[in-house]
Amino acid sequence: MVFTNKKLWTFLACCLMAVGLSSCRAGHVAALPGQTFTCAFPAAIPVGVRQGVYHSVAPGETVWRIARMYEVDADIIKEINNIKDVTDLEIGKRLYIPDAARRKDVITLYPGRKWEYMIIHHSATGRGNSSEFNRAHLKRGWKGVGYHFIIDNGTCGKDDGQIETTPRWIKQADGAHCKAGGMNSKGIGICLVGNFSRDKVSPRQMDSLVYLVNRLRKFYRIPKKNIMGHGRVPGARTECPGATFPWKRFRARLDR
Ligand SMILES: [Zn+2]
Repeated sequence: MVFTNKKLWTFLACCLMAVGLSSCRAGHVAALPGQTFTCAFPAAIPVGVRQGVYHSVAPGETVWRIARMYEVDADIIKEINNIKDVTDLEIGKRLYIPDAARRKDVITLYPGRKWEYMIIHHSATGRGNSSEFNRAHLKRGWKGVGYHFIIDNGTCGKDDGQIETTPRWIKQADGAHCKAGGMNSKGIGICLVGNFSRDKVSPRQMDSLVYLVNRLRKFYRIPKKNIMGHGRVPGARTECPGATFPWKRFRARLDR
């Protein structure tokens, strides 16, 4: 391991912080019925402050992507966490991120003509994140999490309103979220964690949804009429994303 002076000081500072943080930042959280899992608490760093945090690797995340999320040098993350193969990060692996900025969502846009629709879903569960849905969808025999984006609700170690990009988006692959209308191959699947047949979309989830949808629709030139709930797709027999989903409020916030 070769350190420059700056890297060495960062490394030493991180070791000290890691010792101090390891006892208080990791926690065991309640699991979905029949499941047990441990995840780190969200990195709730105030804007402008930098500090060491733990990050649990989600499906599709690379060292490069995580480095961008926290504005940290990818080499430092690699060295401190003793990562040999940056292309093969284990899902759920807990990484220490030294001197991290407040986490930001990294949304990559890929040029192409594949996407003509956006389909909004809810998870119909009170809790979840990309890793949890990945596990559940693998069990169904699918190629991992079926959506392209997940908007978290502050459970399972993720921030309220955090946008997770899944491997299907990174690979620009078909989704497994809406068979009706052939939407899996032409519709971007966005899932909000929650059950909006009984719960409310949180204000942060709504902010993130509006931000994500506006970015995607401008880039791919998707007309507003092609942004719809799963249940509105002809042939789909579902209430998804829930009877109380605030469509009026959402549509009013889409850019012209
Ligand atoms: Zn759905």
